[in-house]
Amino acid sequence: MAVIDRELVARTAPAPVVDRFGRRFRYVRVSVTDLCNMSCGYCNPVQGCAATHRHKLSWDDLDFLVDVAVSDLGAEAVRITGGEPLVRPGLVDWVAGLRRLPGLRNVALTTNGVLLSRLGPALHRAGLDRVNVSLDSFDPERFARITRGGSLARCLEGIETARALFQPVKVNTVALKDGIVDELERFVQFSDEKGVEVRFIELMPVFDQKDYFHRHFISVDDLREELERLGFALEAEGDGPAEGNRTGYGPATTWRVRGTRARIGFISQMSHTKCRSCNKLRLTSDGALKPCLLMPEEVDLTGAIHGRDRHAVASAMRRQFLLRAEAYDPAVALGLPVGRPMQATGG
Ligand code: SAM
Repeated sequence: MAVIDRELVARTAPAPVVDRFGRRFRYVRVSVTDLCNMSCGYCNPVQGCAATHRHKLSWDDLDFLVDVAVSDLGAEAVRITGGEPLVRPGLVDWVAGLRRLPGLRNVALTTNGVLLSRLGPALHRAGLDRVNVSLDSFDPERFARITRGGSLARCLEGIETARALFQPVKVNTVALKDGIVDELERFVQFSDEKGVEVRFIELMPVFDQKDYFHRHFISVDDLREELERLGFALEAEGDGPAEGNRTGYGPATTWRVRGTRARIGFISQMSHTKCRSCNKLRLTSDGALKPCLLMPEEVDLTGAIHGRDRHAVASAMRRQFLLRAEAYDPAVALGLPVGRPMQATGG
């Protein structure tokens, strides 16, 4: 009688990790660096993006982490973020290595686009599936103000590169009260002209940026109302996150704008929590596993990763996923400084 190799069976078909609210672990977001070539106000409003140059985790370490998430816990998708992931040398080879993991269906990247024209083709060849590019304004001065010196032209060039290579391309726009309303029409036109989905992300009060949050927050309901006042009719496209339909694994709810090619997504985690469909865990650039951006819970995985302790890493991930509350607590998110600036956590 054939002997069953139980380890092989377990590794080819990992048991899904499903929490008590029916949410399945599918998706890991990895912040590969806290370095950035921009310094956006919402990402780190108090200190600016002071580069720490810390890469506590090597590419091999990150490979190991993703392998455990995919092969042992059934994750299907990885999003690479930062900081700015394209500033860390070795990214292309790392992506090519990830593609060798059989269970990994989707490798996506979030970037500010500045280095995309240089690295996009190699990333495409390495097997990257999707790209989201951050773009907060079409006004070069406002863009430079928000990003503390960033170039709108470079970002737009990055979006063009992404459009030529990847499908779909999504544009992430953090909704900031002072300005976004004046630019809504331009964002819809851009989505229509370029065939990219524009997603308005509600500002989050991460780390110590509570004052910044109160000064700049605008809800997606207000944006929708304004879009309708401008004459745009939004038609539901479906709720993307729960089962990972073609809009991806993330938390956006996507709408079409009637009579156009424009597609507008809303990420409304402050005004309408998306927790009920949250399917992910995050690894910060300093090696902490974080189940929720807006809650303080985290666990340091560096020791277990460096020791290649597969069991410890898998147990920690499973435990952190299963212990998540039904929803984050807004009083906590809006109260004490939570976690670290987004540049290190990875948005
Ligand atoms: N550098 C890359 C970029 O610019 O896309 C990746 C890192 S950035 C932290 C990832 C995403 O987080 C971006 O889409 C950014 O707009 C979003 N983000 C950063 N801070 C945020 C905040 N306080 N509230 C909401 N979104 C935020």
